[in-house]
Amino acid sequence: MSESGTAAGAVADTVAEEFRRLYGAEPEGVWAAPGRVNLIGEYTDFNDGFVMPLALPHRAVAAVSRRTDQVLRLHSADVAGGVVQLDTAALEPLSDTGWAAYPAGVVWALRAAGHPVTGADVHLASTVPTGAGLSSSAALEVVTALALNELYGLGLTPPELAVLAQRAENAFVGVPCGIMDQMASACCTEGHALYLDTRDLSQRQVPFDLAAQGLRLLVVDTRVKHALGDGAYARRRAACESGARALGVRALRDIPYGELPEALARLAGQSEEVRRCVRHVVSDDHRVERTIALLDAGDLRAVGPVLVEGHASLRDDLRVSCPELDLVVTTAVASGALGARMTGGGFGGSAIVLVEESDTEAVTKAVTEAFAASGFTPPRVFPAIPSPGAHRVS
Ligand code: ADP
Ligand code: MG
Repeated sequence: MSESGTAAGAVADTVAEEFRRLYGAEPEGVWAAPGRVNLIGEYTDFNDGFVMPLALPHRAVAAVSRRTDQVLRLHSADVAGGVVQLDTAALEPLSDTGWAAYPAGVVWALRAAGHPVTGADVHLASTVPTGAGLSSSAALEVVTALALNELYGLGLTPPELAVLAQRAENAFVGVPCGIMDQMASACCTEGHALYLDTRDLSQRQVPFDLAAQGLRLLVVDTRVKHALGDGAYARRRAACESGARALGVRALRDIPYGELPEALARLAGQSEEVRRCVRHVVSDDHRVERTIALLDAGDLRAVGPVLVEGHASLRDDLRVSCPELDLVVTTAVASGALGARMTGGGFGGSAIVLVEESDTEAVTKAVTEAFAASGFTPPRVFPAIPSPGAHRVS
């Protein structure tokens, strides 16, 4: 697919040009993989549950060539420090190679799975804001995985690439993320949200045509950097696993929503934190089901209150929100939005806001003013346009 002549194509051309300057040869190809926002279903992906992400127009673009030796050269337009050079036969998990650990981890995961990847030259640039809960890390991994899959003729499917990318992040980088981000970047399609069962990776592309209904989904990046590595994420995960063990199920996904009160009663001997986490996960899986039903019925406006409920659950039960995210939600709803919630891992990052198109400006203004009044860094607001998943650009 060629994107020449478009704004996206211009970025790809710049990336290819920079590749030539760095490595002195044409790249064999250019690939792109997007960041994502999650509409609903948060902290459910490591509980075998349901999620509903959509790909953003923001994406990582990589120019890549194979090498016949075992040298891996990595360069990012967005990071100072020049080319990182590694030996693909000597890649060590958790060896802290900084940003390069994400693409290097993909090479490591491919080789560990027995795929004949030797070396590569990579230059990339990304428009996905980092640490904003929009999955800049998954975009980096998936674009690398897709490029190597095609160049080395590995024949892996997008879900298989997503699983390898997640393995890179879990085992090589050392971040215990679930599968949502990589699946979203690899598998989303334009104009759709991805309804994903994270247990068996079965999926459905759900038409999500906001514009046709006069609606918009806004992303509000609070500019508060999350740091999922600080143990809070791992702690929620451990609480969910304790809950599942105590309830005698493989994962919390196996607790039907109708049985939640009984399950909570059975957890009376567990900590309050375990009970709260169980309540969040089981109820958020149910909110995904409710959202799907509403989208299938074409009732997009009714998704608003479900988002607000989801936010309350993340704030009060899972306790992963922060004052900035709470302020986005309360201000947006008070100024006429249909609904809003934090999205991604929380502790900063981004919120999503569902609005009537005609209310976009008023809601954006209200949120921006509320941030200023609270002395917070001005937020960045942009529409979430459901965009294509990872693909070859040229
Ligand atoms: P998120 O995925 O929510 O943006 P993460 O902490 O998971 O946040 O990943 C962010 C990290 O990914 C950055 O700190 C950096 O190491 C790496 N990264 C993302 N985009 C780029 C880029 N364009 N160039 C180099 N590294 C990047
Ligand atoms: Mg990430």
